[in-house]
Amino acid sequence: MKNLWLIKIGEIALKKGNRGFFERILERNIRKKLSEFSAEEEGGQQKNQLTKRTGRYYLETAIPDEQALKLLSRTPGVVGFARAYRIGKSLDELTKTSVFIARECLGAGIGTSFKIKVRRADKSLALDSQGYAAELGARVLSALPELSVDVHNPDFIIEVELREWAYVYQERMPGIGGLPVGSAGRGVLLLSGGIDSPVAGYLMAKRGMRLSAVHFHTPPFTSEEAHDKAVRLAGLIAPWCEGISLYSVPFTDCQVAINKGVDKSVTTLHSRAAMMQIAQRIFITSGKMSALITGESLGQVASQTLECLTYTNQSVSTPVFRPLISMDKEEIIALARKIGVYETAIEPFDDCCTLFSPEHPLTRPNPATELHNYGKIEGLTQLIEAAVEGAETISFDSWGRRCA
Ligand code: ATP
Ligand code: MG
Repeated sequence: MKNLWLIKIGEIALKKGNRGFFERILERNIRKKLSEFSAEEEGGQQKNQLTKRTGRYYLETAIPDEQALKLLSRTPGVVGFARAYRIGKSLDELTKTSVFIARECLGAGIGTSFKIKVRRADKSLALDSQGYAAELGARVLSALPELSVDVHNPDFIIEVELREWAYVYQERMPGIGGLPVGSAGRGVLLLSGGIDSPVAGYLMAKRGMRLSAVHFHTPPFTSEEAHDKAVRLAGLIAPWCEGISLYSVPFTDCQVAINKGVDKSVTTLHSRAAMMQIAQRIFITSGKMSALITGESLGQVASQTLECLTYTNQSVSTPVFRPLISMDKEEIIALARKIGVYETAIEPFDDCCTLFSPEHPLTRPNPATELHNYGKIEGLTQLIEAAVEGAETISFDSWGRRCA
Protein backbone atom coordinates (compact mmCIF):
# COMPACT_ATOMS: atom_id res chain seq x y z
CA MET A 1 0.00 0.00 0.00
CA LYS A 2 1.19 3.50 -0.78
CA ASN A 3 0.97 6.45 1.56
CA LEU A 4 0.86 10.07 0.54
CA TRP A 5 2.96 12.80 2.13
CA LEU A 6 2.67 16.50 1.54
CA ILE A 7 6.08 18.20 1.67
CA LYS A 8 6.42 21.94 2.14
CA ILE A 9 9.48 23.91 1.12
CA GLY A 10 10.24 27.29 2.65
CA GLU A 11 13.26 29.31 1.69
CA ILE A 12 13.55 27.53 -1.66
CA ALA A 13 10.10 28.77 -2.64
CA LEU A 14 11.37 32.35 -2.24
CA LYS A 15 14.19 31.88 -4.73
CA LYS A 16 13.51 33.58 -7.99
CA GLY A 17 15.49 32.77 -11.15
CA ASN A 18 17.49 29.88 -9.69
CA ARG A 19 14.68 28.21 -7.81
CA GLY A 20 14.77 25.27 -10.22
CA PHE A 21 18.39 24.63 -9.23
CA PHE A 22 17.46 24.20 -5.55
CA GLU A 23 14.37 22.17 -6.35
CA ARG A 24 16.29 19.74 -8.51
CA ILE A 25 18.81 19.17 -5.72
CA LEU A 26 16.08 18.65 -3.13
CA GLU A 27 14.31 16.18 -5.41
CA ARG A 28 17.56 14.34 -6.00
CA ASN A 29 18.22 14.13 -2.24
CA ILE A 30 14.75 12.81 -1.45
CA ARG A 31 14.98 10.27 -4.26
CA LYS A 32 18.41 9.17 -3.08
CA LYS A 33 17.12 8.56 0.44
CA LEU A 34 14.17 6.63 -0.95
CA SER A 35 16.33 4.51 -3.20
CA GLU A 36 18.89 3.85 -0.49
CA PHE A 37 16.11 2.78 1.84
CA SER A 38 14.48 0.41 -0.56
CA ALA A 39 17.57 -0.69 -2.48
CA GLU A 40 17.36 -4.09 -0.87
CA GLU A 41 13.63 -4.40 -1.29
CA GLU A 42 12.08 -5.93 -4.32
CA GLY A 43 10.81 -3.32 -6.76
CA GLY A 44 11.39 -0.64 -4.10
CA GLN A 45 12.06 2.19 -6.52
CA GLN A 46 8.93 1.99 -8.65
CA LYS A 47 6.80 2.35 -5.58
CA ASN A 48 7.88 5.95 -4.99
CA GLN A 49 6.54 8.96 -6.81
CA LEU A 50 7.55 12.54 -6.14
CA THR A 51 5.39 15.22 -7.76
CA LYS A 52 6.13 18.94 -7.73
CA ARG A 53 3.48 21.63 -7.18
CA THR A 54 3.89 25.30 -6.35
CA GLY A 55 5.76 25.57 -3.04
CA ARG A 56 5.26 21.89 -2.25
CA TYR A 57 5.74 18.31 -3.27
CA TYR A 58 3.59 15.23 -2.99
CA LEU A 59 5.37 12.02 -2.22
CA GLU A 60 3.67 8.71 -2.76
CA THR A 61 5.65 5.97 -1.19
CA ALA A 62 5.36 2.47 0.10
CA ILE A 63 7.99 2.96 2.77
CA PRO A 64 6.61 2.63 6.31
CA ASP A 65 5.36 5.77 8.07
CA GLU A 66 8.09 5.64 10.69
CA GLN A 67 10.81 5.71 8.01
CA ALA A 68 9.05 8.35 5.95
CA LEU A 69 8.94 10.49 9.06
CA LYS A 70 12.67 10.01 9.58
CA LEU A 71 13.36 10.79 5.96
CA LEU A 72 11.38 14.01 5.86
CA SER A 73 12.41 15.34 9.25
CA ARG A 74 16.10 14.96 8.37
CA THR A 75 16.17 16.46 4.92
CA PRO A 76 17.50 20.03 4.73
CA GLY A 77 15.20 22.12 2.53
CA VAL A 78 11.99 20.58 3.88
CA VAL A 79 10.25 23.00 6.27
CA GLY A 80 7.25 20.86 7.07
CA PHE A 81 5.35 17.78 6.01
CA ALA A 82 2.11 15.99 6.68
CA ARG A 83 0.51 12.62 6.06
CA ALA A 84 -2.15 13.43 3.46
CA TYR A 85 -5.05 11.84 1.60
CA ARG A 86 -5.76 12.48 -2.06
CA ILE A 87 -9.42 12.18 -2.90
CA GLY A 88 -12.12 13.48 -5.25
CA LYS A 89 -13.52 16.97 -4.68
CA SER A 90 -17.13 16.08 -3.97
CA LEU A 91 -18.49 17.20 -0.61
CA ASP A 92 -19.29 13.60 0.26
CA GLU A 93 -15.71 12.45 -0.24
CA LEU A 94 -14.35 15.49 1.60
CA THR A 95 -16.69 14.80 4.50
CA LYS A 96 -15.78 11.14 4.70
CA THR A 97 -12.04 11.88 4.92
CA SER A 98 -12.45 14.83 7.29
CA VAL A 99 -14.55 12.68 9.62
CA PHE A 100 -11.97 9.90 9.39
CA ILE A 101 -9.17 12.31 10.38
CA ALA A 102 -11.25 13.90 13.15
CA ARG A 103 -12.03 10.46 14.55
CA GLU A 104 -8.31 9.60 14.55
CA CYS A 105 -7.50 12.82 16.43
CA LEU A 106 -10.21 12.09 18.94
CA GLY A 107 -8.94 8.52 19.39
CA ALA A 108 -5.36 9.73 19.82
CA GLY A 109 -6.48 12.14 22.56
CA ILE A 110 -5.34 15.22 20.61
CA GLY A 111 -8.46 17.09 21.73
CA THR A 112 -12.08 17.82 20.97
CA SER A 113 -12.04 21.26 19.36
CA PHE A 114 -11.20 21.63 15.70
CA LYS A 115 -11.19 23.93 12.74
CA ILE A 116 -11.35 23.28 9.02
CA LYS A 117 -9.00 25.33 6.86
CA VAL A 118 -9.62 25.32 3.14
CA ARG A 119 -7.47 26.52 0.24
CA ARG A 120 -9.32 26.54 -3.01
CA ALA A 121 -6.87 26.67 -5.91
CA ASP A 122 -9.52 25.32 -8.29
CA LYS A 123 -11.64 28.42 -8.90
CA SER A 124 -14.24 26.50 -10.91
CA LEU A 125 -15.78 25.04 -7.76
CA ALA A 126 -19.23 26.12 -6.59
CA LEU A 127 -18.31 27.24 -3.06
CA ASP A 128 -15.49 29.51 -1.98
CA SER A 129 -12.95 28.55 0.73
CA GLN A 130 -15.15 29.90 3.53
CA GLY A 131 -18.17 28.09 2.12
CA TYR A 132 -16.33 24.77 2.05
CA ALA A 133 -14.97 25.26 5.57
CA ALA A 134 -18.42 26.03 6.98
CA GLU A 135 -20.13 23.16 5.20
CA LEU A 136 -17.46 20.60 6.07
CA GLY A 137 -17.30 21.82 9.69
CA ALA A 138 -21.05 21.34 10.05
CA ARG A 139 -20.89 17.86 8.52
CA VAL A 140 -18.03 16.73 10.78
CA LEU A 141 -19.94 18.08 13.80
CA SER A 142 -23.05 16.18 12.94
CA ALA A 143 -21.03 12.95 12.50
CA LEU A 144 -19.10 13.49 15.72
CA PRO A 145 -21.22 15.60 18.10
CA GLU A 146 -18.65 15.29 20.88
CA LEU A 147 -16.46 17.73 18.92
CA SER A 148 -16.75 21.50 18.87
CA VAL A 149 -15.52 24.14 16.45
CA ASP A 150 -12.96 26.65 17.66
CA VAL A 151 -11.60 28.89 14.94
CA HIS A 152 -9.13 30.74 17.20
CA ASN A 153 -7.46 28.07 19.27
CA PRO A 154 -8.44 24.61 18.07
CA ASP A 155 -6.88 21.37 19.35
CA PHE A 156 -6.43 20.26 15.77
CA ILE A 157 -6.84 21.68 12.27
CA ILE A 158 -8.03 19.69 9.30
CA GLU A 159 -6.54 21.24 6.19
CA VAL A 160 -8.16 20.84 2.80
CA GLU A 161 -6.53 21.87 -0.47
CA LEU A 162 -8.71 21.86 -3.52
CA ARG A 163 -6.57 21.51 -6.62
CA GLU A 164 -6.77 19.02 -9.49
CA TRP A 165 -7.59 16.64 -6.63
CA ALA A 166 -8.50 17.37 -3.06
CA TYR A 167 -5.73 16.90 -0.52
CA VAL A 168 -6.75 16.52 3.10
CA TYR A 169 -4.34 16.40 6.02
CA GLN A 170 -4.11 17.22 9.67
CA GLU A 171 -0.87 17.46 11.56
CA ARG A 172 1.90 19.41 9.97
CA MET A 173 5.17 18.11 11.29
CA PRO A 174 8.17 20.40 11.26
CA GLY A 175 11.08 19.75 8.96
CA ILE A 176 14.46 21.35 9.63
CA GLY A 177 14.23 23.98 6.92
CA GLY A 178 17.40 25.35 5.39
CA LEU A 179 18.64 24.50 1.92
CA PRO A 180 19.15 21.12 0.24
CA VAL A 181 22.54 19.53 0.74
CA GLY A 182 24.64 20.05 -2.37
CA SER A 183 23.31 23.52 -3.16
CA ALA A 184 25.97 25.49 -1.26
CA GLY A 185 29.36 23.98 -2.05
CA ARG A 186 31.45 21.47 -0.20
CA GLY A 187 33.13 21.58 3.17
CA VAL A 188 35.35 19.46 5.38
CA LEU A 189 34.20 18.97 8.94
CA LEU A 190 36.87 18.43 11.56
CA LEU A 191 35.04 15.85 13.62
CA SER A 192 36.45 15.14 17.07
CA GLY A 193 34.65 12.88 19.50
CA GLY A 194 32.92 15.73 21.35
CA ILE A 195 29.53 17.39 21.36
CA ASP A 196 30.42 20.45 19.35
CA SER A 197 31.76 19.28 16.02
CA PRO A 198 28.82 17.02 15.02
CA VAL A 199 26.48 19.94 15.73
CA ALA A 200 28.67 22.23 13.62
CA GLY A 201 28.44 19.72 10.76
CA TYR A 202 24.69 19.50 11.06
CA LEU A 203 24.34 23.29 10.91
CA MET A 204 26.43 23.61 7.75
CA ALA A 205 24.60 20.70 6.07
CA LYS A 206 21.37 22.48 6.93
CA ARG A 207 22.63 25.48 4.94
CA GLY A 208 23.13 23.26 1.92
CA MET A 209 26.77 22.32 2.26
CA ARG A 210 27.86 18.83 1.26
CA LEU A 211 30.28 17.51 3.85
CA SER A 212 33.12 15.14 4.28
CA ALA A 213 34.57 14.63 7.73
CA VAL A 214 38.09 14.13 9.06
CA HIS A 215 38.93 12.59 12.39
CA PHE A 216 42.47 12.60 13.79
CA HIS A 217 43.43 9.77 16.08
CA THR A 218 46.59 9.29 18.07
CA PRO A 219 47.06 5.63 18.97
CA PRO A 220 48.27 4.33 21.37
CA PHE A 221 47.58 7.53 23.35
CA THR A 222 43.95 7.45 22.33
CA SER A 223 42.00 4.21 22.36
CA GLU A 224 40.22 2.23 19.66
CA GLU A 225 36.98 3.10 21.49
CA ALA A 226 37.66 6.82 21.04
CA HIS A 227 38.13 6.24 17.32
CA ASP A 228 35.02 4.10 17.13
CA LYS A 229 33.04 6.85 18.86
CA ALA A 230 34.01 9.38 16.17
CA VAL A 231 33.02 6.85 13.49
CA ARG A 232 29.62 6.36 15.14
CA LEU A 233 29.14 10.13 15.37
CA ALA A 234 29.78 10.41 11.63
CA GLY A 235 27.09 7.75 11.10
CA LEU A 236 24.68 9.68 13.32
CA ILE A 237 25.00 12.94 11.39
CA ALA A 238 25.00 11.18 7.99
CA PRO A 239 21.18 11.36 7.50
CA TRP A 240 21.19 15.17 7.93
CA CYS A 241 24.11 15.39 5.50
CA GLU A 242 22.59 13.08 2.85
CA GLY A 243 25.45 10.69 3.55
CA ILE A 244 29.01 11.41 4.60
CA SER A 245 32.51 9.98 4.22
CA LEU A 246 34.84 10.06 7.19
CA TYR A 247 38.58 10.24 6.66
CA SER A 248 40.35 8.72 9.58
CA VAL A 249 43.84 10.20 9.85
CA PRO A 250 46.74 8.82 11.96
CA PHE A 251 48.01 11.85 13.85
CA THR A 252 50.37 10.35 16.43
CA ASP A 253 53.66 11.24 14.73
CA CYS A 254 52.56 14.83 14.11
CA GLN A 255 51.40 15.16 17.70
CA VAL A 256 54.68 13.82 19.08
CA ALA A 257 56.71 16.16 16.86
CA ILE A 258 54.60 19.14 17.95
CA ASN A 259 54.96 18.20 21.64
CA LYS A 260 58.74 18.03 21.19
CA GLY A 261 59.09 21.09 19.01
CA VAL A 262 57.17 23.85 20.81
CA ASP A 263 56.54 25.12 24.30
CA LYS A 264 53.92 23.12 26.17
CA SER A 265 51.66 26.17 26.46
CA VAL A 266 51.00 26.19 22.70
CA THR A 267 50.78 22.50 21.80
CA THR A 268 46.98 22.50 21.34
CA LEU A 269 47.20 25.58 19.17
CA HIS A 270 49.77 23.98 16.88
CA SER A 271 48.02 20.61 16.70
CA ARG A 272 44.88 22.42 15.59
CA ALA A 273 46.89 24.21 12.90
CA ALA A 274 48.38 20.89 11.73
CA MET A 275 44.93 19.26 11.68
CA MET A 276 43.55 22.07 9.58
CA GLN A 277 46.46 21.86 7.16
CA ILE A 278 46.02 18.10 6.78
CA ALA A 279 42.28 18.50 6.17
CA GLN A 280 43.06 21.17 3.61
CA ARG A 281 45.68 18.96 1.93
CA ILE A 282 43.37 15.97 1.68
CA PHE A 283 40.42 17.75 0.16
CA ILE A 284 40.96 21.24 -0.94
CA THR A 285 44.12 20.74 -2.91
CA SER A 286 42.34 17.98 -4.82
CA GLY A 287 39.77 20.60 -5.82
CA LYS A 288 36.91 18.84 -4.09
CA MET A 289 36.26 21.20 -1.19
CA SER A 290 36.22 24.87 -0.51
CA ALA A 291 35.87 25.37 3.26
CA LEU A 292 36.86 23.90 6.61
CA ILE A 293 34.35 23.57 9.44
CA THR A 294 35.12 23.28 13.13
CA GLY A 295 33.04 23.09 16.29
CA GLU A 296 34.82 26.02 17.91
CA SER A 297 32.91 28.58 19.93
CA LEU A 298 34.41 31.88 21.01
CA GLY A 299 36.06 31.63 24.42
CA GLN A 300 34.76 28.12 25.15
CA VAL A 301 38.26 26.85 25.96
CA ALA A 302 41.74 28.38 25.98
CA SER A 303 42.40 27.44 22.35
CA GLN A 304 39.27 29.25 21.18
CA THR A 305 40.10 32.82 22.03
CA LEU A 306 40.04 35.38 19.24
CA GLU A 307 43.85 35.36 19.10
CA CYS A 308 44.01 31.57 18.82
CA LEU A 309 41.37 31.48 16.10
CA THR A 310 43.20 34.24 14.25
CA TYR A 311 46.39 32.18 14.39
CA THR A 312 44.82 28.95 13.14
CA ASN A 313 43.03 30.84 10.37
CA GLN A 314 46.41 32.00 9.12
CA SER A 315 47.73 28.47 8.89
CA VAL A 316 45.38 27.62 6.01
CA SER A 317 44.38 29.42 2.84
CA THR A 318 40.70 28.46 2.81
CA PRO A 319 37.77 29.91 4.75
CA VAL A 320 37.17 28.32 8.14
CA PHE A 321 33.50 28.18 9.10
CA ARG A 322 32.67 27.99 12.79
CA PRO A 323 28.87 27.87 12.95
CA LEU A 324 28.90 27.58 16.77
CA ILE A 325 31.04 30.67 17.26
CA SER A 326 28.38 32.63 19.15
CA MET A 327 26.63 29.77 20.88
CA ASP A 328 26.63 28.86 24.57
CA LYS A 329 27.32 25.26 25.54
CA GLU A 330 23.69 24.84 26.63
CA GLU A 331 22.46 25.87 23.21
CA ILE A 332 24.89 23.47 21.56
CA ILE A 333 23.78 20.65 23.87
CA ALA A 334 20.12 21.29 23.02
CA LEU A 335 20.94 20.92 19.33
CA ALA A 336 23.07 17.83 20.00
CA ARG A 337 20.06 16.26 21.71
CA LYS A 338 17.75 17.27 18.90
CA ILE A 339 19.87 15.56 16.26
CA GLY A 340 20.50 12.52 18.45
CA VAL A 341 24.26 12.76 18.95
CA TYR A 342 24.41 13.84 22.59
CA GLU A 343 24.42 10.45 24.31
CA THR A 344 27.21 9.19 22.06
CA ALA A 345 29.21 12.42 22.27
CA ILE A 346 29.40 12.30 26.08
CA GLU A 347 30.80 8.76 26.23
CA PRO A 348 33.99 9.22 28.21
CA PHE A 349 36.82 8.40 25.80
CA ASP A 350 39.83 10.67 25.64
CA ASP A 351 40.50 12.74 22.59
CA CYS A 352 44.06 13.77 21.71
CA CYS A 353 43.18 17.39 22.50
CA THR A 354 42.22 16.54 26.07
CA LEU A 355 45.12 14.14 26.57
CA PHE A 356 47.79 16.55 25.40
CA SER A 357 46.25 19.80 26.52
CA PRO A 358 48.67 21.94 28.52
CA GLU A 359 47.97 22.93 32.11
CA HIS A 360 48.65 26.59 31.34
CA PRO A 361 47.76 27.22 27.70
CA LEU A 362 48.67 30.48 26.05
CA THR A 363 45.42 32.27 25.33
CA ARG A 364 46.80 35.33 23.54
CA PRO A 365 49.43 34.07 21.13
CA ASN A 366 51.21 36.42 18.79
CA PRO A 367 50.35 34.97 15.36
CA ALA A 368 53.66 35.98 13.76
CA THR A 369 55.73 34.45 16.57
CA GLU A 370 53.72 31.25 16.55
CA LEU A 371 53.88 30.90 12.77
CA HIS A 372 57.64 31.16 13.12
CA ASN A 373 57.71 28.54 15.94
CA TYR A 374 55.44 26.23 13.95
CA GLY A 375 57.76 26.45 10.94
CA LYS A 376 60.65 25.22 13.10
CA ILE A 377 58.97 21.98 14.25
CA GLU A 378 61.30 19.29 13.02
CA GLY A 379 60.07 17.12 10.19
CA LEU A 380 56.47 18.32 10.46
CA THR A 381 56.00 18.92 6.73
CA GLN A 382 56.94 15.30 5.93
CA LEU A 383 54.88 13.98 8.82
CA ILE A 384 51.86 15.89 7.52
CA GLU A 385 52.40 14.27 4.11
CA ALA A 386 52.61 10.85 5.74
CA ALA A 387 49.39 11.52 7.70
CA VAL A 388 47.62 12.48 4.47
CA GLU A 389 48.87 9.27 2.86
CA GLY A 390 47.71 7.21 5.82
CA ALA A 391 44.09 8.44 5.77
CA GLU A 392 41.44 5.73 5.59
CA THR A 393 37.87 6.27 4.48
CA ILE A 394 34.63 5.05 6.00
CA SER A 395 31.40 5.99 4.21
CA PHE A 396 27.82 6.23 5.42
CA ASP A 397 24.71 6.39 3.29
CA SER A 398 21.88 8.86 3.79
CA TRP A 399 20.31 6.59 6.43
CA GLY A 400 23.54 6.50 8.43
CA ARG A 401 24.38 2.96 7.41
CA ARG A 402 27.94 2.04 6.61
CA CYS A 403 28.56 1.44 2.94
CA ALA A 404 31.54 0.37 0.89
P1 ATP B 1 34.34 19.10 20.35
O1 ATP B 1 33.30 19.07 21.41
O2 ATP B 1 33.79 19.11 18.97
O3 ATP B 1 35.35 18.00 20.58
P2 ATP B 1 35.86 20.95 21.84
O4 ATP B 1 35.05 21.94 22.48
O5 ATP B 1 36.31 19.77 22.63
O6 ATP B 1 35.11 20.46 20.52
P3 ATP B 1 38.53 21.37 20.98
O7 ATP B 1 38.99 20.07 21.51
O8 ATP B 1 39.31 22.58 21.27
O9 ATP B 1 37.08 21.75 21.33
O10 ATP B 1 38.38 21.25 19.44
C1 ATP B 1 37.91 22.31 18.68
C2 ATP B 1 37.55 21.81 17.31
O11 ATP B 1 38.71 21.26 16.65
C3 ATP B 1 36.55 20.68 17.34
O12 ATP B 1 35.22 21.15 17.43
C4 ATP B 1 36.84 20.00 16.03
O13 ATP B 1 36.23 20.68 14.96
C5 ATP B 1 38.36 20.12 15.91
N1 ATP B 1 39.03 18.94 16.49
C6 ATP B 1 39.56 18.79 17.71
N2 ATP B 1 40.06 17.55 17.88
C7 ATP B 1 39.86 16.89 16.73
C8 ATP B 1 40.15 15.57 16.27
N3 ATP B 1 40.75 14.67 17.02
N4 ATP B 1 39.76 15.23 15.02
C9 ATP B 1 39.13 16.13 14.22
N5 ATP B 1 38.84 17.38 14.61
C10 ATP B 1 39.19 17.76 15.84
MG1 MG C 1 34.99 18.56 23.18
